[in-house]
Amino acid sequence: METSEAEKEMREWCVALPKVELHAHLNGSVRNSTLLELAKELGDKGVIVFEDVKDVIMKNDRSLPECFRLFDLFHILTTDHDTVTRIAKEVVGDFAAENVVYLEIRTTPKNNEAKGMTKRSYMNAVVKGLKSVEDVDVVLFDSNLRNDETPMSDLSGDTKRKKIYVRLLLSIDRRETTSAALDTVNLAMEMKDQGVIGIDLSGNPVVGEWETYLPALEHAKDLGIPTTIHCGEMKLELSEQQVPNRKEIQAMLDFCPQRLGHVCCLDDEEWKKLKSSMIPVEICLTSNVMTGGAPSLELHHFADLYNAKHPLSICTDDSGLFSTSLSNEYYLVASTFGLSKTELFRLAQGAVEFVFADDEVKKSLRAVFERAAAETLAS
Ligand code: 5GP
Repeated sequence: METSEAEKEMREWCVALPKVELHAHLNGSVRNSTLLELAKELGDKGVIVFEDVKDVIMKNDRSLPECFRLFDLFHILTTDHDTVTRIAKEVVGDFAAENVVYLEIRTTPKNNEAKGMTKRSYMNAVVKGLKSVEDVDVVLFDSNLRNDETPMSDLSGDTKRKKIYVRLLLSIDRRETTSAALDTVNLAMEMKDQGVIGIDLSGNPVVGEWETYLPALEHAKDLGIPTTIHCGEMKLELSEQQVPNRKEIQAMLDFCPQRLGHVCCLDDEEWKKLKSSMIPVEICLTSNVMTGGAPSLELHHFADLYNAKHPLSICTDDSGLFSTSLSNEYYLVASTFGLSKTELFRLAQGAVEFVFADDEVKKSLRAVFERAAAETLAS
């Protein structure tokens, strides 16, 4: 079926809209073309069988457990210093190209003895990638921002150089021990002056116990490092091991992180608690539908939270893995829930208030949206 003119116009508008991305995993945001190239290299070396891997990378429909098997494969392809630098550079370039003006990218620092990699050297490789982006200006550290800076996103189609603020969150993988999780929080503290501003808890939700990560999350809290937690991603009936997660969801809400990811499968009590907490939620439509956290786009809990005026931000989660983009996620919000351009703009603008970066960055982002408002909303 041909794309209608109206759809085309709306899609272009969503690309031009300045956007804030708060939930993007580095290794989930790698381009398929890069993964295939890396797989080919490893195939040629006899480390993997390229044809098998190619089919897995190109497959579109994935359950959540399949995604985690795929991440293990991605990590084989991407976990050496030069490749980490390359993917960090490409991912930032891809987000900037679609007018993301502020990006929090999260990644799990990895030890890999065979590659001489420590969590610190992994993160140094990420930072090197961010610094080597050439086509756009990456603002990684707090520079002395001025309110009269040139707009970071040009909605008139002008070819002015784009500018993107990038900050890093360090992820604790649910497979990790308490001690490894504490190492990650201490590393975040050490790398505060290099753009690291928060901690994320992610990884396979059927693995691990809340009590294992709690000391590290408490430590982050004590150090004043903001946290965001993947919460209630899977339906209970998908796995028997989900039963303790009811307790976990309560504990996560009680912990009061600065933000929560997904919140797909809450019961009535938990919804009530979430809504009264006003903890901002990172909404990942495509990811939730593809992995079964939400039954369909139409029945996604976005509508409920949006109508309740709960603080929200639209995010991609894993743009490479799920073949999406932040512009596409905004388009889906409009086409599924009937939001107007003004409402979409306000949604994008609202996310500025939930960034982990400091007030100077927030001020600068607010100015970007104010400048963009007249032009965007007139079209
Ligand atoms: P990385 O941290 O290696 O840069 O990005 C991939 C990792 O992010 C995965 O191995 C997994 O731990 C985490 N991740 C990515 N997407 C999801 C998701 O949808 N849910 C959860 N719980 N974790 C995820």
